Amino acid sequence: MPISFNPPVRTLMGPGPSDVHPRILEALSRPTIGHLDPAFVGMMDEVKKLLQYAFQTDNELTIPVSAPGSAGMETCFANLVEPGEKVIVCQNGVFGGRMKENVERAGGVAVMVMDDWGKAVDLAKLEQALETNADAKVVAFVHAETSTGAQSDAKGIWELAHKHGCLVIADCVTSLAGTPILVDEWGLDAVYSGTQKCLSCVPGLSPVTFSEKAIEKIKNRQTKVQSWFMDLNLVMGYWGEGAKRAYHHTAPVNALYALHESLVMLRDEGLENSWKRHAFQHSALKAGLEAMGINFLVNEADRLPQLNSVFIPEGVDDALVRSRLLNEYNLEIGAGLGDLAGKVWRIGLMGHSARSENVIFCLSALEAILSELNAPITKGVALSAAQSVYSA
Ligand SMILES: *Cc1c(COP(=O)(O)O)cnc(C)c1O
Repeated sequence: MPISFNPPVRTLMGPGPSDVHPRILEALSRPTIGHLDPAFVGMMDEVKKLLQYAFQTDNELTIPVSAPGSAGMETCFANLVEPGEKVIVCQNGVFGGRMKENVERAGGVAVMVMDDWGKAVDLAKLEQALETNADAKVVAFVHAETSTGAQSDAKGIWELAHKHGCLVIADCVTSLAGTPILVDEWGLDAVYSGTQKCLSCVPGLSPVTFSEKAIEKIKNRQTKVQSWFMDLNLVMGYWGEGAKRAYHHTAPVNALYALHESLVMLRDEGLENSWKRHAFQHSALKAGLEAMGINFLVNEADRLPQLNSVFIPEGVDDALVRSRLLNEYNLEIGAGLGDLAGKVWRIGLMGHSARSENVIFCLSALEAILSELNAPITKGVALSAAQSVYSA
């Protein structure tokens, strides 16, 4: 007969979820109140304000969708793509492929701009696609490809897209709070993110933000949004500023306490300090891994600090190492996906996971296991290489 579930305490250094700060877990356990209770509605308004700060936007429609990042993705495509419309999708990893699925399920036509996994989106290829598809309405891309650790040039993509009269949908699930996203300055029209990556909140919510232009398009659709739950025309009545909250669905009350807490923590730290912390912890991890002889998949210029894809040393059993890390050290790192399965590990430094204890712990555990397996690494140098970054 099942008894209470008590999960093991792990250190989460994979592609998400990341370590959740105890303050956020505590917020989650506060008393549940009604989702139309004035006290709760007041908190929802604060969540919107704090999200505007996190996204660096004044967009009125900036809210958390009550479902994970994938639902934020689907919300953007379901609302912004009408049947028969052409959408240019830049794909350089797993998530661009999901965008294609979303376009097609919304009845649109996806024009794919393909780049190698581990590379940033190639602006020249995008420009060519925009020129040969003058009737395209939307450009979609993944800012931070969690499947590879590559970051693309959001501002450059926006400039090309707007020159050709397209709206831009950006996947910022892994970038929010980890690397700069300037939604207004970069002119992004529809952006979605997740709570369990660099916000270090529990999984299950998807912050989104929409520009005036995007809202105009949604309000003037010829056809109804095919998803009732995700139709922003209805969701706006629930989250709208000062508006009488019309019942749409029951908000995940406690999960929103947790998001509120994580956003207050982000505001207290400061967005720029959060970006700097991720970059700094990445440089220590990188120093340690490279000293061991472990190399990165992505070029330095396009590399995400919060998602480190590194080549597995020659002859090493990928699954064995990951399961030993989990079982002996309670440490989770991520496996490679698609063509990169068995070739790379993905080491996450997201949110609360991006701190010195985690970097040092991960380097020691990895070195201990790889040494025992006689892997071709340089021993005894990783920790001092990381330490020298900390003491510099
Ligand atoms: C994690 C992730 C998603 C999906 O988010 P879920 O919360 O797992 O649904 C989408 N895009 C990217 C780039 C991600 O890293």
